Amino acid sequence: MADRFSDGCEAPGAVHPAPRFAAACAAEWEAGRSSRDNVSLDVARCGRPSDRVIAAMQRHLVAEQHIGGYEAEAAAAPQLDRARLMLAAMMGVPRGRVEFVANGTSAMAQLLASWPWRPGMRVALPRSEFASTRLVLERLAKRERLRPIVLQEDSAGRVALDAFGRLVAGDSRPSLVVVSHVPSHRGIVQPLPEIAELCSQAEARLVVDGCQSLGHVEVPCVGAAAVVGTSRKWLHGPRGVGFVAVEETLWEQLDGPPTLQTHASRPEGQARLANAPALELSEAAVAARLGLATALEETGELVSDVAQHVLAIGRSIRHGLREIPGWRLREGPDEPTALVTFDAPSDETLSRVLVRLRERGIHAGQVPAGRALDLPRSILRLAPEPVARLDWLETVRDVLARAR
Ligand SMILES: *Cc1c(COP(=O)(O)O)cnc(C)c1O
Repeated sequence: MADRFSDGCEAPGAVHPAPRFAAACAAEWEAGRSSRDNVSLDVARCGRPSDRVIAAMQRHLVAEQHIGGYEAEAAAAPQLDRARLMLAAMMGVPRGRVEFVANGTSAMAQLLASWPWRPGMRVALPRSEFASTRLVLERLAKRERLRPIVLQEDSAGRVALDAFGRLVAGDSRPSLVVVSHVPSHRGIVQPLPEIAELCSQAEARLVVDGCQSLGHVEVPCVGAAAVVGTSRKWLHGPRGVGFVAVEETLWEQLDGPPTLQTHASRPEGQARLANAPALELSEAAVAARLGLATALEETGELVSDVAQHVLAIGRSIRHGLREIPGWRLREGPDEPTALVTFDAPSDETLSRVLVRLRERGIHAGQVPAGRALDLPRSILRLAPEPVARLDWLETVRDVLARAR
């Protein structure tokens, strides 16, 4: 197994990360962060930016003070453009337009609010879809007279392809399908290539939420119309930045909010200016966007190594904790994600465990009930950093095993 890892080859089935590979990758990642007093198992909520990312943001703020905000932004433009190209490639929309927004929620909300709807359009999404996306679509369904469709899922939360195939073959074909590549409360990967194939049979557009996959699970290039993401999770960028990659034809059709920088008032009506962004607002915290650009550059070529390493840690967590009485692993132990979820014995036990772990310097996560329609109770979520040592795993096992 060690050799497979050090080759940097495809997903291995090892239970533990091979020491040589893990050491090299983790050492680089850890060396970039001077303050790491705790073990973070909550990357799915918020990652830890590196010293270089923080320094780049500070430098930009100082430049804003010295030479002026707009001048500093002009100087940063080439780096931001490189970040857009990197994101487009990572998001599987290599020729798409990448625009920065405030976070993942607003990336999805603004995209859907600007969508070229027609009354009666059918929009399909799984039951497990992120609640904020569902809220936005519920509101739009009323306003635009859309018809929502719930995609069937199997017991693990994967879109049921046979049922989806029947939907596509029938009379109530959707014209838009929205799906999270990796849901925030299930450590599974949705079968995007198969979903995309069925979408193309239905002539439906596909929108992918990549907030929990980017930086961790490769987003395949499947012809999605748009992919949304967020900076602060597995990409370990700063908070306050989200982004969307939009394929060109859709980008032309998006009807984003009119602003001084994007629209002009003409006698025949408002018109979007040539090449103006569809969703991105020019007045923004540029330092944060630059922080994300720096995080992308820094991980750059290492990104697939880091991903392999956190995936291996995810498997170690599942194999290490899967048989503790009262805690039910919610996905298969070898799922290709590092987002590990457990049903807890009770909400009270879950809260107690989170506190006890924190007392031992381990920051675990939870997903509160209601985050999706298929989440009636809060769950434990462990989402690791690409670190070298796994000695904390024994402590987590102890705390879970003793909690009643
Ligand atoms: C975190 C998350 C979002 C929202 O992103 P924010 O940056 O928190 O607004 C959307 N979808 C999924 C699947 C997420 O995990």
